[in-house]
Amino acid sequence: MKLMNSCELALLKAVAANPADDLPRLVLADWYEENGEGERAEFIRVQIEIAKDLSCKTSVGYPPKYICNRAKIWNCVRCLSIIRERELYQIARHEWQGDCVEIIPKGATIDEYITFQRGFIHTVRCTIADWIEYGSKIIATNPVERVEVSDRKPLRSFITSKFYWNYSSGNVERPFIVPYKIWNLVHANEEEYGFTSRELAINALSDALIAYAKITS
Ligand SMILES: [Zn+2]
Repeated sequence: MKLMNSCELALLKAVAANPADDLPRLVLADWYEENGEGERAEFIRVQIEIAKDLSCKTSVGYPPKYICNRAKIWNCVRCLSIIRERELYQIARHEWQGDCVEIIPKGATIDEYITFQRGFIHTVRCTIADWIEYGSKIIATNPVERVEVSDRKPLRSFITSKFYWNYSSGNVERPFIVPYKIWNLVHANEEEYGFTSRELAINALSDALIAYAKITS
């Protein structure tokens, strides 16, 4: 991994601290361009453009044969951007992993562990233990907004049909058991215990893991 310039580090921290904001990302893109990393700058800008506008520019009011397809892109900024993004992504996935190296096993397919959005790492997938150990380091310089833990699943209550996480005072290992410090962040603000869907429970765990990483960083 290359040694990080202190200016780059400060700009990365600004990106990480404001995940919803495009401006720090564009400021850092300018910095990359001025410092010989044109492709990284372009990757950030292209992904920001794509995130803003999801529609093909030739799709409105044109007959189907004039809509962008695999054979031809019809002078369409959006679809040309996507092609360029895929090219740049081949570099991104190998060189711009931020501080995520510890959670990506050697030789693994990087895409299974991190996902880029708007030029930076948006989603991290790892074990809960890896996130607890490395999350604070990752989140200091990456605008991670979602953590998907590979080894935990919420439990559905037969009585209430709700989904929930639990903790153990002993060493019980179950997919729905999370450390108390995480459980406390998940369920602390709930009036009624449990979530109405599996997705909501998983989202709440993700939010709690990000909050935990921020507290400990
Ligand atoms: Zn198009």
